[in-house]
Amino acid sequence: MMMTTFSVTKTRIAVHKFSSCDGCQLAFLNAGEALLELAELVEIAHFAEAGVIDSEAEVDIAFIEGSVTTPAEERRIDAIRQRSRYLVSIGVCATAGGLQALRNIADAGEWPAAIYASPQFIDSLPTSTPIASHVKVDFELWGCPVNGAQVLQTVRSLLAGVTPRAETETLCGECKRQLKVCVMVAKGEPCMGPVTRAGCGAICPSVGRGCYACYGPAASTNTAALAHQLHAMGLTSKAVADHFLLINSAAPAFKAEGLKWRGEDE
Ligand code: SF4
Ligand code: SF4
Repeated sequence: MMMTTFSVTKTRIAVHKFSSCDGCQLAFLNAGEALLELAELVEIAHFAEAGVIDSEAEVDIAFIEGSVTTPAEERRIDAIRQRSRYLVSIGVCATAGGLQALRNIADAGEWPAAIYASPQFIDSLPTSTPIASHVKVDFELWGCPVNGAQVLQTVRSLLAGVTPRAETETLCGECKRQLKVCVMVAKGEPCMGPVTRAGCGAICPSVGRGCYACYGPAASTNTAALAHQLHAMGLTSKAVADHFLLINSAAPAFKAEGLKWRGEDE
């Protein structure tokens, strides 16, 4: 895809929060010196976590953290789309509905009444949905949270007029390149690496534990083969289902496999 190079005037960016924990915005702030370099190249028009607030700003690149879980958020994402040249969703809340999408496959109607004294004041949708379910998204960054390198690489690519590089392969490839010992083969640890998108740097296998798939499904996955392997290693059907129905429970590949092992059809 050919993309337009930005003009000599500073590129305006905004970072907007929807239903989320703020962890992906912290990926920006934790970028340290690289963030300072970035601040030289762009004008940050809105980024509440960094203390810059102009939520109505027209921008070149809008980064969106969080999923859509309220009627107000449905309206707000439409308005942001209209004011933004490129829209990039960051983190699994924004790309797949996040942990809060567990309510999509549960009888969640009772939860507010069990927790809040006055649940009638809670105005939420019955589902948590990714940004791409509502508006056109130009690029997605997966991860819970995303990391600073992903974010900065995306901004630099867009500034240079090239399409940002998307991670598509599995975490297993990342482990092999780093010469990590496979935790599933060597230690018998259940690991979601064979179906999980690369990009985190293989953090968990590097410290000897299995991946729990916080970077979401890779572009091409064989979820059925991994699920049968996990079962053969001694996991119950419920435990196999739980491995798929966690942070990325609404990502289609994981949802289908997880519900199958729960004995449910979509
Ligand atoms: S993707 Fe994870 S870290 Fe990012 S906002 Fe959602 S829950 Fe927080
Ligand atoms: S190894 Fe898996 S669970 Fe750990 S950070 Fe990477 S993607 Fe997330």
